[in-house]
Amino acid sequence: MRRPLVTGNWKMHGSRSTIRALMTALCHGVKDRGAADILVLPPAIYIPDVIRLADGTRIAVGAQNVGDQDQGAYTGEIAADMLADFGCSHALVGHSERRLLYGETDALVAARFAAAQRHGLTPIFCVGETLEQRDAGETEAVVGAQLDVVAAKVGALALERAVVAYEPVWAIGTGRAASPEQAQAVHAFIRAHLATHGAGATRMRLLYGGSVKADMAGELFAMPDIDGALVGGASLKANEFLNIIARAD
Ligand code: PEP
Repeated sequence: MRRPLVTGNWKMHGSRSTIRALMTALCHGVKDRGAADILVLPPAIYIPDVIRLADGTRIAVGAQNVGDQDQGAYTGEIAADMLADFGCSHALVGHSERRLLYGETDALVAARFAAAQRHGLTPIFCVGETLEQRDAGETEAVVGAQLDVVAAKVGALALERAVVAYEPVWAIGTGRAASPEQAQAVHAFIRAHLATHGAGATRMRLLYGGSVKADMAGELFAMPDIDGALVGGASLKANEFLNIIARAD
């Protein structure tokens, strides 16, 4: 039985005071919202504040990115052991905004994935195709290749200890979510593809991300291979995020 996981990616939004208000509402609201695992990914500078605010609740805290090296002369990067030192449990790797806006390659994503695991963080490994790739019928080839690069670097057992998030690029921040059936089809492909690498894919959690809102979350979570969501914009609104969490049981 895979436990649902609902993750909020706050991207580069907020301030100390808005984040305190959001966390106060979430910490209070999650008490009667089912039993799904909950993770929030604040902008890095707010991680210590959010960890303090989440103390004693079921909200875990992670990072939106993680350094590919352990320590050293890597200006601007934050190492996995630093994140772990502050109490982070997860790190996002390979988000499409990192790939497209900051030129992160599959090889760099694989190195970040490996660094996260070396220091006890669970990677949330994002994959997904662009609209052009989908229209050209290349979704499985693109997603499969993204999985293959990481599998080749870290191996099946390491993959098995990660969470994979399917995030079609065309659905992120556009208000145009994949239909539950479209998402399920790619999730089933991902699970089968991970199994070809020797990973115990039936145990792995696969999240869908891309314009998830509360009104469609129930249908998404009812799909057999969808184990939760990676939520961007809607995770910044406490009630909307809590309503998504409530549908994840
Ligand atoms: C995301 O940033 O991972 C995301 C899915 O964003 P949104 O929910 O806003 O589409």
